[in-house]
Amino acid sequence: YDLTHQDIRLIMSDTVTLLDAQAILHNIAIETNLGEEPLWVFGVENQLKQVFINVIKNAIEVMMDGGVIKVACLRDEKGRNVVRIADRGPGISQEQLSKIGQPFYTTKEKGTGLGLMVTYKIVDNHQGSVEVSSCLGEGTTFDIVLPYDAPKG
Ligand code: ADP
Ligand code: MG
Repeated sequence: YDLTHQDIRLIMSDTVTLLDAQAILHNIAIETNLGEEPLWVFGVENQLKQVFINVIKNAIEVMMDGGVIKVACLRDEKGRNVVRIADRGPGISQEQLSKIGQPFYTTKEKGTGLGLMVTYKIVDNHQGSVEVSSCLGEGTTFDIVLPYDAPKG
């Protein structure tokens, strides 16, 4: 592994560039607010990118009628990094919420049910956590919380 200090805003802007074409094909705009300050994490760039790809892809896949996916990178009141990905999809029921992230749990005809499992695993390996809040008929927000760790000197 290649553990280094990363500014997650850069990883996120790469990720959005990567997924923009796919979003546009679905009439979706990815709106980003990456803030002004570096958001340092100590981690593996490719793994963190995979996390952002998995969650944004899920958002694209549920926004059947197009619309806007909002992506924000910020620090919370405890100084932790938060990556917030909010969609206007159908939402996730309470019952489903307890199942997402379990291996092979999918509601998609051609889904693998592995994306969120991998996501949770990687975030856990980075001493972070994922918080999901969802409202049926309104949408879903994934908060990926990662410790702030700036390079020294
Ligand atoms: P897959 O995308 O292959 O189904 P994931 O692990 O990425 O596997 O997601 C598992 C399930 O979680 C999805 O099938 C879907 O039911 C639910 N899910 C994930 N993200 C969202 C979202 N943004 N809105 C609604 N449901 C979601
Ligand atoms: Mg997925």
